[in-house]
Amino acid sequence: MEDVLLIAIATMGGLGFIFAGGLAIADKKLRVYEDPKIAQINEALPGANCGGCGYAGCYDFAVNVVGGKASVTGCPVGGEDCAQDIANIMGVDAGSSVKLLPRILCKGGHQEAVEKMVEYYGPLSCSAMTIVSGGDKQCYYGCLGGGDCVEACPFNAMVMNDNGLPEVIEELCTGCGNCEKACPRNVIEMHPADRQIFVFCKNHDDPKKAKDVCTVSCMGCGICARKSDGGVEMVDNLAVINYDHLDTDKIPFDKCKTHAIGFLDGREKKLLEIKEEQKN
Ligand code: SF4
Ligand code: SF4
Repeated sequence: MEDVLLIAIATMGGLGFIFAGGLAIADKKLRVYEDPKIAQINEALPGANCGGCGYAGCYDFAVNVVGGKASVTGCPVGGEDCAQDIANIMGVDAGSSVKLLPRILCKGGHQEAVEKMVEYYGPLSCSAMTIVSGGDKQCYYGCLGGGDCVEACPFNAMVMNDNGLPEVIEELCTGCGNCEKACPRNVIEMHPADRQIFVFCKNHDDPKKAKDVCTVSCMGCGICARKSDGGVEMVDNLAVINYDHLDTDKIPFDKCKTHAIGFLDGREKKLLEIKEEQKN
């Protein structure tokens, strides 16, 4: 009986020894080497996992930085300090990165946009509205007002205002760009934070139709393009700013009847009011 017990113990011990040895060899042979920089960069990132960098999350971004596929400045949430930390880990120059903020290039809310005769009763989602009927507004280019952008923001930096248009809370916005990606109408664009002049419209309809569907649309009259010396171009009935050639003083803000082209804070309207007062 004792012999059987000893044989069993010896067999089990032997097997354990063989398996342990096998595992040790497998560990050596099959181990996938991970560059320690990946963990260091992952540590330096904000951990928001928002996808603003274009990758599945912070770790995936770190893998791609080390793999040479992503830029050290590619995390919009971390900003310059984070980019500098990553550049230090990678031993490269971070250069200077400019903060981008989302700009809502449509001012046609409930008060300005003309609504269709038949009301939309489907889900309150911009992507659903786009598929079903194009929403309530007659304009097929403007904001649908369903708030997909608000839903897509991981930082609660966007809200819908009383006029049915999204607004950015700049203090909370990290510039991740998720709102831009979520908008089926491409009404949201990311621009350098200090950029102030925009055409707040995306309507490519002919001038008469554009005017009929919204009181603040770009009518495609082309006055701004003719006067701005290359600062504004007309693209399919829509004024588009050429920021490389923009000379603010040459934009005839007072000639744009719908104020589709203007400053972010609407200061051109105040200047016009002052001009009018001076005339009277
Ligand atoms: S508003 Fe939100 S989703 Fe849009 S860029 Fe800012 S943080 Fe990102
Ligand atoms: S900006 Fe785009 S995503 Fe946001 S509410 Fe308007 S249509 Fe929808």
